Amino acid sequence: MSMTYYIHVYGCQMNVHDSEIISGILELEGFSSTEDPESADVILLVSCAVREHAETRVLGRLSQLGGWWRGRKSGKPLMVLCGCVAQEHGDGLLKRFRDLDLVVGPDCYRDLPGLIRGSARISVVDFREGDYTGIEPVRVEFPRAYVTIMRGCDNFCSYCIVPYVRGRERSRKSDVILSEVAALSEGGYGEITLLGQNVNSYHDEKISFPLLLRRVASAAGTSWIRFVTSHPKDLGRETVEVMASEKNICRYLHLPFQSGSDVILKKMNRGYTVQEYLERIEVLREAMPDIVLSTDVIAGFPGESEEDFQKTADLLEKVRFDNAFLFKYSERSGTTACGLEDSVPEEERLARLNHLQELQRMITIEKSGELLGRTLRILITGPAKKPRQQAGRTEGNRIVILDDTDFCPGSFLNVKITRADGWTHFGEPCGNMES
Ligand code: SAH
Ligand code: SF4
Repeated sequence: MSMTYYIHVYGCQMNVHDSEIISGILELEGFSSTEDPESADVILLVSCAVREHAETRVLGRLSQLGGWWRGRKSGKPLMVLCGCVAQEHGDGLLKRFRDLDLVVGPDCYRDLPGLIRGSARISVVDFREGDYTGIEPVRVEFPRAYVTIMRGCDNFCSYCIVPYVRGRERSRKSDVILSEVAALSEGGYGEITLLGQNVNSYHDEKISFPLLLRRVASAAGTSWIRFVTSHPKDLGRETVEVMASEKNICRYLHLPFQSGSDVILKKMNRGYTVQEYLERIEVLREAMPDIVLSTDVIAGFPGESEEDFQKTADLLEKVRFDNAFLFKYSERSGTTACGLEDSVPEEERLARLNHLQELQRMITIEKSGELLGRTLRILITGPAKKPRQQAGRTEGNRIVILDDTDFCPGSFLNVKITRADGWTHFGEPCGNMES
């Protein structure tokens, strides 16, 4: 009988897609997946290191697994830690967690089958050139699919651990990306998201991001295209023009601003000013008045004064993002910000975060309220939480719940919004789009 594996993912879309790649690698070698950790021969955790909280969660799970397997009928599973925490701590984790068998970094997943079948208890965390081209990911989010266009990051924002755990930025070949996109569209995937830490700096010889995007849009047929993450310093007008002119590129953009203070942005090594950020927003809204915008913000970066913080709150209010991911600053060892003086006390970071959350909650509600009674096109993504409910996504990535419907995941339909009080909306199918 083949060995079974159970995989659990923490963190961002990049990690979700990496876990699909890990599954692809394992299944090619005869492993089969199970949803039941009780019976699995191998348990893999794909970890996130971006904030201390994420890391604590996965390390907590590792210690809990140590006690847990002793009650299992099938004895000890092979335990594997993958992802960014694996890369960050390597060998040290094997010393710390006695039941952990393997520690494997993001560039080394091709080694997994051999390592699992072997008997060594080791950590494999080299940085490598390969980008997993040729591996067929086992996709878990039909009708939504991810396609990596680049791995790693060279930006070294001063707070961020990503460049240290995911290595240097490298772009994948455009012809490989285009053929993956075309195959997904033919396979009925209604939404394809291009992934990279800074997609705007994509480069494959003469092909830069706007040109890639244009070609992806035509290879994708009627499937929707999204891309994350865009970096304000590299988002050019050409990309905005491509977004505005290609019908199947979603009018949605996630554009993290991190701080509303130029002094803090400089300390963060972000490479733009608030004024430049606002100019990007203006260009986007001029070209696509209905564009849905989201952002990331960090509260309590070292040296952030009350005045700097107020500027961040002001920027949230000024732009009125449809949605925002708000974080309190978390020290990551090895990053340049980690040693900075003037750290903001933990309680103050939390208070600032709460303030931003409350502010954004009101804005999100107001913006979503504007959709009440409107007709929007959605992609049915699958069942929702309650029985007989289905969920879908708008072009703007908003969630819409339908009661008592039975559409095939992957179908597009028009819905009238009947309740709108946050990022999740309710709607009813309806025939015609409003003009
Ligand atoms: N490459 C993307 C995503 C990076 S991680 C980008 O540049 O936007 C996702 C978000 O986590 C970041 O945008 C940032 O807001 C947040 N983040 C990263 N490091 C952090 C830290 N040390 N403390 C708090 N938030 C952090
Ligand atoms: Fe981190 Fe900055 Fe790279 Fe994003 S662009 S992954 S925030 S270093």
